[in-house]
Amino acid sequence: MNFIYRLRMRSKLIIAFTAISLFSGVMGLVALKNIRDLNNNSVIMHDRNSRVIKDITLVKSNLVQINLDIYMVLDEKNSNKVKTLVDEINRLKNQDDNLLADYEKHIVDSDDRKLFGDLKNILSVYRQYRERLLEYIDEGNYDKAWIVYNDLEIVSENIVKNTENYIEYNSRVAEKYDNSNKQLYHDTIISTITIGVLGFIVSIFVGHFIAYRISGKIKTILDFAKSLTEGNLEHKITMKSRDEIGQLAIALNKAADKRREYEENLMSSYEELEASYEEVRALEQELREKYNDLEASFEEITALEQELREKYTEISINEELLRNNEEWYKLITEASYDALWDWNIKEGKMFFSDQWYNILGYDREETKDIDWTKLVNEEDYERLQNVIKENWENKSSVFTIEYRIKDVNGIYTWMQTIGKTLFDSEGKPYRLAGSHKNITDIKEYQHRLEYIAYHDYLTDLPNRQYMHKVAEQYFDKKGVYEHNKTALIFIDIDNFKYINDTLGHNFGDFLICAIADRLNRIKREDDLLVRLGGDEFVIVLNSIEDRAQVENFCTAMLECFETSFNVDSNYLQVTSSIGIAIYPEDGKVLDDLLTKADIAMYRSKSLGKNNYTFFHSGMNDKVIERMEIEKYLRNALDKNEFILYYQPQVDANSGMICSFEALIRWNSPELGFVPPDRFITLAEENHRIIDIGNWVLRSACEFIKEVHINGHDKCYISINVSVIQLMQSDFVDNVLKIINDITIDPNCIELEITESIFIETYDNISEKLNRLREIGIKIALDDFGKGYSSLSYLKQLPISTLKIDKTFIDDVAEEHKISLVENIIDIGHKMNLKVVAEGVETEEQLNYLNKHSCDRIQGYYFSRPVPQSEAISLLNR
Ligand code: C2E
Ligand code: CA
Ligand code: CA
Repeated sequence: MNFIYRLRMRSKLIIAFTAISLFSGVMGLVALKNIRDLNNNSVIMHDRNSRVIKDITLVKSNLVQINLDIYMVLDEKNSNKVKTLVDEINRLKNQDDNLLADYEKHIVDSDDRKLFGDLKNILSVYRQYRERLLEYIDEGNYDKAWIVYNDLEIVSENIVKNTENYIEYNSRVAEKYDNSNKQLYHDTIISTITIGVLGFIVSIFVGHFIAYRISGKIKTILDFAKSLTEGNLEHKITMKSRDEIGQLAIALNKAADKRREYEENLMSSYEELEASYEEVRALEQELREKYNDLEASFEEITALEQELREKYTEISINEELLRNNEEWYKLITEASYDALWDWNIKEGKMFFSDQWYNILGYDREETKDIDWTKLVNEEDYERLQNVIKENWENKSSVFTIEYRIKDVNGIYTWMQTIGKTLFDSEGKPYRLAGSHKNITDIKEYQHRLEYIAYHDYLTDLPNRQYMHKVAEQYFDKKGVYEHNKTALIFIDIDNFKYINDTLGHNFGDFLICAIADRLNRIKREDDLLVRLGGDEFVIVLNSIEDRAQVENFCTAMLECFETSFNVDSNYLQVTSSIGIAIYPEDGKVLDDLLTKADIAMYRSKSLGKNNYTFFHSGMNDKVIERMEIEKYLRNALDKNEFILYYQPQVDANSGMICSFEALIRWNSPELGFVPPDRFITLAEENHRIIDIGNWVLRSACEFIKEVHINGHDKCYISINVSVIQLMQSDFVDNVLKIINDITIDPNCIELEITESIFIETYDNISEKLNRLREIGIKIALDDFGKGYSSLSYLKQLPISTLKIDKTFIDDVAEEHKISLVENIIDIGHKMNLKVVAEGVETEEQLNYLNKHSCDRIQGYYFSRPVPQSEAISLLNR
């Protein structure tokens, strides 16, 4: 066994596989031999079966042939044929002999031999008979020949029988061989299968055995290697075999041993290292502690050094101070702009530096015994005392106070005093020293700043901030004013925005100053006049008795505007709209009163400006209504809510319609029908009138074109134009464009403009009107005699028509006014103008106007303004 253990793995494998190969080889040879035997048997069989049986059969047939030939010879008794018979017999006899000799070679066993011997014996008997027969034939003794022949027949029959036996025997032999072959075949199959199966089993067994042996060992090694990697060095492989795996096991064992040895060494070195590390750490700790100690002492030293340095500086400063003290003190008191004071409280002695005497102008010697506190302004004295008292009580370091002190001329100087008290060990003040500074200038400056903040830069009037600051003096203050009624009057200059826009801001500023001046003159001294900004003023009337007093004041105010303002040698008439709110009825706080006065002011504006209105609660609704109108007016044009109505004007001479005035109508889905008086002013204020006016111009022109197409080509159209439209630089171009677009004759267009201060002041307007006149457009002055009505317009402007305002027509019944209308018509005619009367409602009025040669009549008497279709049918009537 030891021998096997010592074998190499390679050798073991070679031996095993050689054994398997040998075994398989032997088995293969056995199978090969069996197959060859099988082959031999079948060759023998084949030879015998084909040759032996053929030979015997041939012998038999030869015999029969010979017998037949003999019979023939005997029967014919023909001796001629004997010769051929004998030749034939000899030939066949040779053949038979050859056959038998051949057969003899193939005899297989004793039975075969015996049969062969029998056959040979009988055959020789037969041949003896045949010889004898042939001798008888040769002798011609046929009788005897027949007798022999008969015997020969019997022998032949025996031979035939013998040959049949023989054939039968040979068949049996063949069968025997066949069986033997079958057996052989069977054996061969069995042996081959056995070889295969055995070879397979042995191979598997040997393979498994080898694999098991090898893998078993390898697994042992693997386990060992695993435990090695896990650090288990105690484990050992025990393996008897000394093959490669065995060698590996030994090597691994050795490696593990070596490793264990290293590890043990390492462990001991590590322990040593740790021990020294511990030592180092301890040392480090010690070092750190020592460092900390050192640092602490270093800090102490630096602190000490710092202290020392500070002390040194202090000492040197003190030394320096001490050295210079007297000199310094003198210098300070003399050079300082501020005065210095030093009060020895215990001794009651007060020292002021020369500067103090300089500021106030007193003589030191003369005022030696004066109590300075007596010079302090009475209003400030108590405060001054309190500050010092508080300083002593609280022992606060320094105090500052500002107060007025009388100078040598009896004028108060603002002084700012800074003081520091020194307290003794018991906490009692014993010395108070500090500075006095003359701050009169600064105070004045502050005052000035305050003034600027609370006053309007332009008019120097108090401003809105000021009013808010002093509001409680007038409103919502319990006490003195509680029972006093106060009126807040809100004043807004009419059309100021346009004055500013058209005449320039400088002009506007001058005008505002002039207005402020006038207002200032009419108010009482106690009343407060404020400029809120822009063209808005507020007057607060104090302690009013009743409304009448306010009304009187307002009337006076409106009257004071009647005189034209002379600005830069321009004369301009300005009006204002006034709103009044009364404290406490309308409100108790300023903002509330302001809002309400503002609302009332707006009411004055919508009532035609140049008047005053007291606030009442219903006004809020008006404001809301105004806002509503403004809101919906914004989109009215886009939403097609406007429509034009037309009112005919009748020619006084012919009594026929000569023209129409286009009048706008607004049907708002939200507000219902809104009359033009209610929205035109608003549209002017927010300049929407420009777009609306353009639309009116175009629509009215389209209308008159339609009228012309209907055959009334002499008829013309009067279109109202707002002054805001006129002020636009592209106004004339717009009109021209419309005329061009629609292609109508400019001669059939009359633009109605209303009197306004702008027409007077705005040169551009007359220039524009001139351009329009040049192309044939007529200009009518609307509402003549109503507003600013100055006949001088008529000279300055290129007017072609005068429209007498309805109010004059209303009054034609009144005797004293008649002359006025007569005069207007007369003047108009003298100036070569056509005169139109509007608002004619009665026959009486008509007759009167006819009598005085008024050119055209417009009014409900003939027709109210009507929609386009109706207007055309009026014409046709
Ligand atoms: P206006 O230019 O003086 O127009 C004449 C106003 O008098 C019209 O009022 C007209 O309906 C009314 N009227 C005419 N005959 C009589 C009468 O016999 N009796 C009475 N009681 N009234 C009569 P309406 O249409 O309400 O227009 C009022 C004002 O609105 C117009 O006064 C005009 O200043 C302005 N306006 C109307 N349409 C336009 C427009 O398209 N553009 C501009 N800028 N203003 C327009
Ligand atoms: Ca008009
Ligand atoms: Ca009018």
